[in-house]
Amino acid sequence: MNEPKYKRVILKLSGEALSGGKGFGIDEETIMGIAKQIKRVQEMNVEVAIVVGGGNFWRGRSTEGMDRATSDYMGMLGTTINALGLQDALERIGVMTRVQTAIEMRQIAEPYIKRKAIRHLEKGRVVIFAAGSGNPFFSTDTTAALRAAEIEAEVILLAKKGVDGVYDSDPRINTSAKKLDHLNYIDVLNMGLGVMDSTATSLCMDNKIPLVVFGIDDSDNIVRVISGEKIGTQVKE
Ligand code: UDP
Repeated sequence: MNEPKYKRVILKLSGEALSGGKGFGIDEETIMGIAKQIKRVQEMNVEVAIVVGGGNFWRGRSTEGMDRATSDYMGMLGTTINALGLQDALERIGVMTRVQTAIEMRQIAEPYIKRKAIRHLEKGRVVIFAAGSGNPFFSTDTTAALRAAEIEAEVILLAKKGVDGVYDSDPRINTSAKKLDHLNYIDVLNMGLGVMDSTATSLCMDNKIPLVVFGIDDSDNIVRVISGEKIGTQVKE
């Protein structure tokens, strides 16, 4: 196995990535497949913290007529369902984990405490950050940027479902869309590329956190990115 390129990473998993072909909820086989990849990464002695999304249950911005903050809190609860599902999948295959929530839910998980999170990582536990940033009007991509800055992760690995990187236009609409191997954050903002929302992009840019955007559909991709293989799109300052 190759020497890992990174020592501490934030893996951002969208909620959709856990839903398999169903697009809703958690697909058993899919979540176990992801858990197995994370186990392999952890066996490479890489410290892995995960920020998990919630779009497979609820997205605050997609609801109409509802109070946005309430809807966002519902979304944050969705991320927590995913975090517990991921914890269960990882622990079933022998990976020690801790879930930390940005909104206190003491009966089911620890509250987010930066120093504790780092300590868990140093002890080889996978830390799963749930409930986003705890604030409405934010996304889990922004949370990934925030947590990466806080725990001093070297990179954010943005695992996407259905695409294998960033394109100059939407490949699902435009068949001649070109995949971009390298990008700067300022290009992402100027070109209006749908990599992450602009808050998340700015946070990464201002804090000089590199990002790798890649497809999760290929079952080995997380390990390949960690091993330094040039797949997907690299986004830098
Ligand atoms: N959310 C929020 N604040 C955060 C993170 C998430 O309010 O800091 C809510 C928001 O409603 C969002 C939902 O949780 O739509 C699910 O997160 P996201 O859309 O980022 O999930 P993903 O698309 O990655 O599955």
